Amino acid sequence: MELTKTFKKEYKQVIRKIKEFDTIVVFRHQRPDYDAFGTQLGLAFWLKDSFPMKKVYYVGANHTTFTGSLYPEMQVLEDEIFEKPFLAIVVDTGNTARIDDERYKKASYIIKFDHHPNVEPYGNINIVANELSSTSELVAHFCLSFKKKYPLPLLSAKYFYSGIVGDTGRFLFSSVDKDTFNVAGELLTYGLRPHIDVYEPMYEKDIASLHLQRFVLDHMQVTEKGIAYYVLEDKDLKELNIHNERGKEFLSLMSNIKGVPIWMCITEIKEKNEYRVSIRSRRLDISQVACKYHGGGHLNASGATIYSLEELPLLIKDLEELI
Ligand code: AMP
Repeated sequence: MELTKTFKKEYKQVIRKIKEFDTIVVFRHQRPDYDAFGTQLGLAFWLKDSFPMKKVYYVGANHTTFTGSLYPEMQVLEDEIFEKPFLAIVVDTGNTARIDDERYKKASYIIKFDHHPNVEPYGNINIVANELSSTSELVAHFCLSFKKKYPLPLLSAKYFYSGIVGDTGRFLFSSVDKDTFNVAGELLTYGLRPHIDVYEPMYEKDIASLHLQRFVLDHMQVTEKGIAYYVLEDKDLKELNIHNERGKEFLSLMSNIKGVPIWMCITEIKEKNEYRVSIRSRRLDISQVACKYHGGGHLNASGATIYSLEELPLLIKDLEELI
């Protein structure tokens, strides 16, 4: 996608707004993934480096696996920071209900950068490209557009690269095009060593992870019409010593099964009395079914929620109807 032509005017408006505010807070979605963290931190460190006189913050929950290895601890911000005028930049988040930290509501001005369908254009400026591989690709492109004046620090290159790799399944998905490689290639010119800086911390496994992998292979079901899935109940998570955030870690084990166009995992979130569903497909558009089950997302990668396992046969039936 030719981003420069599409968003030239908006990019300039964003720079103007950045210059206008002394305080900038970068937000992203709840239950963050690589793209959410990668975009948020890549942008925050570029802002810190480019505008050293400004106060730049990044907020949201930490992650049980990524924080401390690939990404730093999130900042814990006092309420008083949000009482003065500030610019909120919200990345990778389609709708306001999913923004991690409600204090974005106090912002004087909101900029949205995203690659999900623009179901809620909540920003004063909305830069949304839903056919793009990742929000990291979009925001890296934005920062690189001003590289002569504001060069990218190595840390930003690392974070953006991790987001692109995470949301493309290592450059595997259909959303990858020549521009994805162009942006990723340009990130490498800032001294990034992907195998050490990104892949090692990203793919390092603990033993619990291997036990989870065995569980998935042992318990995976495939319906007659070709929906593959596994269910992780709270008792399984406890037995495996795995946080529910990691339930979808082995979703991709089901991604290339012959005769299986749709696959998903269902993870119990005991503290919320719900089951988080991650759905993937090769080609079929699963996003509408995800919407029906309190979720949303992309054509081939969506998330949903069910409130009891009794709903699961209905969800499977709805997905089977797509086949
Ligand atoms: P997940 O299965 O949680 O990895 O989500 C897959 C994709 O769908 C990601 O891009 C999410 O950001 C998106 N997604 C997940 N849940 C929702 C939701 N409730 N509304 C909109 N998009 C979602």
